[in-house]
Amino acid sequence: MSFLKRYLTEVKSKEKYYTEGHIMKNSITPGQISQNNLKLIYQYIYKNGPVSQQDIAFDLRLSRPTIKTKIEELESRGLIRKDGQIASDLAGRKAAAYSIDPEYRFAIGVEILKTQVKLLRVDLIGRSSCRTVLDLAYENSDLYVTALCGEINRFIDSLPSGKDRILGIGLSFPGLVNADATEILYGNILDCTGLNIATFRRHLSFPCRFLHDADAAADSELWTSPELTDFLYLNISVHLGASVIHNRKIVSGLHGYSATIEHIQIDPKGKLCYCGKRGCTETFCSLSALLDGDDEETFFRELRAGNAAVRKRWKKYLHYTALVINNMHLLYDTVFVLGGYMAVHLLEEDIEQLYDEISKMTPFPEVRDYIRISKMPKHSITIGAALPYIREFLEGELID
Ligand SMILES: [Zn+2]
Repeated sequence: MSFLKRYLTEVKSKEKYYTEGHIMKNSITPGQISQNNLKLIYQYIYKNGPVSQQDIAFDLRLSRPTIKTKIEELESRGLIRKDGQIASDLAGRKAAAYSIDPEYRFAIGVEILKTQVKLLRVDLIGRSSCRTVLDLAYENSDLYVTALCGEINRFIDSLPSGKDRILGIGLSFPGLVNADATEILYGNILDCTGLNIATFRRHLSFPCRFLHDADAAADSELWTSPELTDFLYLNISVHLGASVIHNRKIVSGLHGYSATIEHIQIDPKGKLCYCGKRGCTETFCSLSALLDGDDEETFFRELRAGNAAVRKRWKKYLHYTALVINNMHLLYDTVFVLGGYMAVHLLEEDIEQLYDEISKMTPFPEVRDYIRISKMPKHSITIGAALPYIREFLEGELID
C-alpha cells in the first residue's frame, strides 16, 4: 500500500471513529465531574475524618468553593456531619471538622444454619448491632422461605433506623454459591443445592444475595485487616470451610470449588462426611468433629482447666489441623487465618503447638510467622454477609 493510500485509510478510519461518537463516550460531562468530586470528598472524609475543609482542599487539590458546595450537599443529605473543631492554620484558628455519619445506611447480615438463623445489622464503618438469634430449623421448602423472610421483615421493622436506610440483605449458607450470588451450587449440609435467590426476592423488598459462609467470614477478615493482601482463611465453625484471598479478592476458581479443603480425604476408611465420602478433613477438623456432641463452652473450659482427657482430644485435633495447614502451605505459601466459631477459643499457645506439629512434617526450615488467629473472632459470618452492600455503597455513586 502506498504512503498516500495508507494515509487516506487512516484519516477515514479516524473520521469514522469520531462520527460514531467515540469521543462523546470518552469525554466527561460537568455533571460527572461534579458527581466524582462528591464521591472523592465523601471517601476522603470516610478514611480521614474528622477533617476540615482546608484539609480536604489541600489533599484532594480541589478548590475551596467546590469543597464548600459539596460539603453542604453531603451535610444536607445526612451523609456527613459536623464533628467538633480542629486548628486550621498556624495562628491556631479553629475550623469546623467533618466526619461521615456511620448510620446513614445499614446492611443486614443473615446466617442460615441447620436449626438457627442469626441476624444483625452492620453500619457503614462495619459495626454490628441488634444481633438476634432465632430457632428456625432449615427445610428446603417454600414454607421455610416464607417463615424466614417473615422473620427478616419483622427484624427490619423493629430496627430504630427505619427501612429506607437498608442497603440490602446478605444471606449466608453453609454451601457454595454461584458467581452472581443467586444460586446455591452445592448445599449438602442443608440439602439446599439449587436454591435460587428469586424465592427470597418474592418476600423481601430489598436487594438480596447469597454468600458462602466461609467467604463471608473471610470478607470480614479483609475488612478488619487492611494490611493483608493474600491469605487462606479457615472457617472452623460447626462445619469446616475455607476461602482463598488473592489481591484482596476471593478466588472462587473455575467451577466455584476453590478452597473446599473440607473434602480433602485424610482417611478413606474414616468417618462418613456429609458429602457421602469417608474421612474428609471435615470429619477431623470441624468444630463438630472436635466436640462430637459435647457442649462447646464446657469443652474449652475443661481444656483450659487442664482436664487430661479433653487435652488429649485437643492434641489429636491440633495434629490433624497442623497436617491440613502444612499440606495447604506447601501448595500455597501464604498467611493462614484461623477463624470461624473456633477463633474465640484459640490462644497463642495453641498456635505454637500447631507450629510444633508442623515442624515434624515440613521439609523446610521452620518459620513461625504465617498462622494467625482471626481479628474478628465473633460473628464473622453474619457480619461478612452484610459487608458486600456496605462496600458497594462506599465505592458507589452516592445516589439516594
Ligand atoms: Zn466430604
